[in-house]
Amino acid sequence: MSKRDYYDVLGVAKDADKKDIKKAYRSLANKYHPDKNPDNPEALEKFKELAEAYEILSSEDKRAAYDRFGHEGVNGQGGGGYGGGAGAGGFSDIFGDVFGDIFGGGGGGGQSRTRRGSDLRYTLELDLEQAVWGCDEKIRIPTLVNCKTCDGSGAKKGSTPKTCGTCGGAGQVRMSQGFFSVQQTCPECHGAGQVISDPCNDCHGQGRIQEYKTLSVKIPAGVDTGDRIRLSGEGEAGTHGGPAGDLFVQVSVKPHAIFERDGANLYCEVPISFTTAALGGEIDVPTLDGRVRLKVTPECQSGKLFRLRNKGVKPVRGGPVGDLICKAVVETPVNLTSRQKALFTELAESMGEGTDHSPKQKSWFDGVKRFFDEIKK
Ligand SMILES: [Zn+2]
Ligand SMILES: [Zn+2]
Repeated sequence: MSKRDYYDVLGVAKDADKKDIKKAYRSLANKYHPDKNPDNPEALEKFKELAEAYEILSSEDKRAAYDRFGHEGVNGQGGGGYGGGAGAGGFSDIFGDVFGDIFGGGGGGGQSRTRRGSDLRYTLELDLEQAVWGCDEKIRIPTLVNCKTCDGSGAKKGSTPKTCGTCGGAGQVRMSQGFFSVQQTCPECHGAGQVISDPCNDCHGQGRIQEYKTLSVKIPAGVDTGDRIRLSGEGEAGTHGGPAGDLFVQVSVKPHAIFERDGANLYCEVPISFTTAALGGEIDVPTLDGRVRLKVTPECQSGKLFRLRNKGVKPVRGGPVGDLICKAVVETPVNLTSRQKALFTELAESMGEGTDHSPKQKSWFDGVKRFFDEIKK
């Protein structure tokens, strides 16, 4: 498989400076981050490719070698140099601990076998009203917790785990793949660094067991689809005494029967009768906290927008309260009686053939006429 040019991967020019490279990587890595693309192998590949390109181009030495000799240049240079530790440190600089997991949390567990538990994600569906006003939600999530029987060690009472022979207790083995030296979880001990000959009956040597727990989540007012609430330490239990991961509650707002939301603003369509549209009047308009009377000016056209100030959403991150924007939809009357039909006929006759009473029709006909005049030329 031939590798893509690292500059192309990041979408930067050959003479891009460090800042531009960092910026490009940051925005692309955000886009293809596995957190945002769960179960998407293509995004994961992209993400790895980005990490590789960034690793080379962000280092002056490696970039110089790559510029002179291409992929061969950085291939021959390092060998085992940039797996694990060094690279992971660099990425953590930018992204903080979220990336720590993906890159192996600083290069394997050679010294300490404790590992942080995985972060968990829970998608919480909310009604628009709940998202706008905030709410307390109870969620039930499956999670791995420390086995109480063996206190998380995985070994039966009275026995102790032995150091793994395959990895010498490191929990990881090195594999060479192209110029990347990749640390892989030891297949024998699955990363624990220890093998358990006499496993605990309750957790079968895992040290952790699956349980359901119910959590109360306070949803702040103004959240929207895509917002995440982090519950620190409520993720999976760590192994061998490591800290627990976090739980990310991801908000997903259900479609609403009346309102559509766009940031702080709400939109809705309001049907207006033929006669009210023509003569003007008042109509009831729904808002999230009750009805309000809306004055319709005479000669209101379909599509006209009415803005109700401060009847939108107060954004969770602060800022002004949005507006409710109502779009008038003028309705043509149906089920006409013969009397009503007669009235309409009379109305039509009174209005005549001209377009004095139909401003849109007038400009439309003018446009059509111009169009045909152009063709004739
Ligand atoms: Zn156990
Ligand atoms: Zn091992």
